[in-house]
Amino acid sequence: MSFFVKKRFEHSKSQQSVSVDGHKRNGKFRKNASVRRKICRFCADKIVADYKNVSLLRTFITENGKIFSGHITGTCASHQRELDTAIKRARMLALLSFTTTSS
Ligand SMILES: [Zn+2]
Repeated sequence: MSFFVKKRFEHSKSQQSVSVDGHKRNGKFRKNASVRRKICRFCADKIVADYKNVSLLRTFITENGKIFSGHITGTCASHQRELDTAIKRARMLALLSFTTTSS
């Protein structure tokens, strides 16, 4: 089992080095077709971050209860601010947890 995992890891590592070489040859930086730009889910679906919509808010926090940064989820700055207040509101109403204790 561990052998397969190790082999797969080495494979992905070699692929990365190839792409880096490709960048150098082209003289471009991060202009790969495989790199997709993250889109804001609130802009795309035209939804508002609501403190009552717990299932939505849960997708933007880690399992420990921390809020993901906009860089990771791709949320734009204005919606990230709305999401931030919505999550904090939900925490105050005990809809979401502030943190989970590690047992
Ligand atoms: Zn947005």
